Amino acid sequence: MTDDSELIRGLLSSAGLRCTQAGQQLLAVFVAAPRDALSHAEIDLALQGNGIRLNRVTLYRLLGRLKHAGVLTSHTGEDRITRFAYVPEAYDSPCASYFECQSCHRIRQSKAPEALTELLNELIQDPSWRDYQLLNANLTISGICAECRS
Ligand SMILES: [Zn+2]
Repeated sequence: MTDDSELIRGLLSSAGLRCTQAGQQLLAVFVAAPRDALSHAEIDLALQGNGIRLNRVTLYRLLGRLKHAGVLTSHTGEDRITRFAYVPEAYDSPCASYFECQSCHRIRQSKAPEALTELLNELIQDPSWRDYQLLNANLTISGICAECRS
């Protein structure tokens, strides 16, 4: 937990956020489960499990700021629910691959193989997108996760 708290303080300051209790508690949930994408409800539940209650406005505002600063990524699933994840730098790329479970709709991000990253980069450099501002390109694999299968 001590290692994490240093990482968390670093992440908050890199996002230009004050090191508030709420910010640290929220990021602790994400850092404890890197690459695990959580919905608002799941985040709330995890916080409550740690004995913490953040009001909805604070939670949404913090998530928005952390996402805007690039500390958290977000992905909207086929169920139209947006989930947030902390993705360590080694996995971070504008090109990514995801797995979305069709049963529980949990999303995991996997490290995209280099060949896929190259392919996605090639795709976004296509001249037909010249006048567009592209933000990211990703591949989503859907199926049933290990937990739902067991
Ligand atoms: Zn599942």
